[in-house]
Amino acid sequence: MNDFRYTAVESASAALAAIAADAQARFIAGGTTILDLMKDRVEDPPLLVDINALPLRAIEQCDDGLHIGALARMSDVAAHPLVRDGFPLIAIALEQAASPQLRNMASIGGNLLQRTRCPYFRDVATPCNKRAPGSGCGALAGERRRQAVLGTSESCIATHASDLAVALVALDASARIVGRHGNRAIALRDFYREPGDTPNIETALEPGELITEVVVPALAYARRSTYVKVRDRAQYDFALASAAVALDLQDGTIREARVALGGVATVPWHALAAERALAGAPATREHFQRAGEAALAGARGYGQNDFKILLAKRTLVGALEIVAG
Ligand SMILES: Cc1cc2nc3c(=O)[nH]c(=O)nc-3n(C[C@H](O)[C@H](O)[C@H](O)COP(=O)(O)OP(=O)(O)OC[C@H]3O[C@@H](n4cnc5c(N)ncnc54)[C@H](O)[C@@H]3O)c2cc1C
Ligand code: SF4
Repeated sequence: MNDFRYTAVESASAALAAIAADAQARFIAGGTTILDLMKDRVEDPPLLVDINALPLRAIEQCDDGLHIGALARMSDVAAHPLVRDGFPLIAIALEQAASPQLRNMASIGGNLLQRTRCPYFRDVATPCNKRAPGSGCGALAGERRRQAVLGTSESCIATHASDLAVALVALDASARIVGRHGNRAIALRDFYREPGDTPNIETALEPGELITEVVVPALAYARRSTYVKVRDRAQYDFALASAAVALDLQDGTIREARVALGGVATVPWHALAAERALAGAPATREHFQRAGEAALAGARGYGQNDFKILLAKRTLVGALEIVAG
């Protein structure tokens, strides 16, 4: 780890002023991602701006939905009654992420901004277009078992790592952001960028912008939701495939569905084709399988990870069966 400066701030305006001092400066919340990246020399910020004293930990129900402060800890959000009762898929996604110790430290904002676990991205001795634009992609000619099958490009096939983001994309949540030019909100479905020719640009966040909270729109049928995560180990592992689903069911017919996939795509994947396949259909295994086919219709395997296409379909079918009861 290189030398760096550290400053702690107590207000959003002080955070924005501090971060503006250096284009390479970074915020630090729980530190469970940024410090690893610094130790591995993947990121080398000369200044860390500690935002933990900002009043951004509230979890509350408002008229427009559930508001979750960006500094709320993963474990606190997972345990909160508003989340457990109204949006169980969020609680499940959080509880299946990382370890209890990490969840006690890690913040919601930091979770959404974590970087890929692609091993070449984290090994500075190897080429990686995401870490060093134009250097090539180590994964395309190397280990591809855990890489993506949706949203890939010739430049990058790395999977997005956040479980929480998959649940929030299914629910059409948005991030509230403050920056030097004021406040804005952006839907998480638009927040994440597929790699294209610029895999180094991962989100719509501008340099120096601060996420203040996540807003999950009120959705009565989100009570009937789940998150299913398939991984190599039963605990403490990233997804090979995951599915976040919520169903509006009446008399065995699906009125509306929310579906997103994780572990198989370069971004938390909004499975719009699956939602359309499910709307108006009977809640049967046959129709769940059709939704799985629709969700993965555009998938492309890279040899070692071909199995993920079938795995993702089965994961989605399994999640729908759980929710449909
Ligand atoms: C061993 C291990 C296993 C893990 N397993 C999983 C898993 O299975 N599933 C999963 O989803 N995650 C997993 N994680 C990731 C973990 O959830 C993240 O490390 C954590 O959520 C990051 O939060 P943090 O507060 O520590 O972020 P930090 O490390 O403090 O920050 C991360 C990044 O976000 C930026 N940032 C933080 N807060 C803000 C903000 N409010 N506004 C703007 N920028 C901000 C920082 O500048 C930094 O770039 C794992 C991590 C580890 C180390
Ligand atoms: S898949 Fe993406 S992150 Fe991994 S080596 Fe290739 S460019 Fe880098």
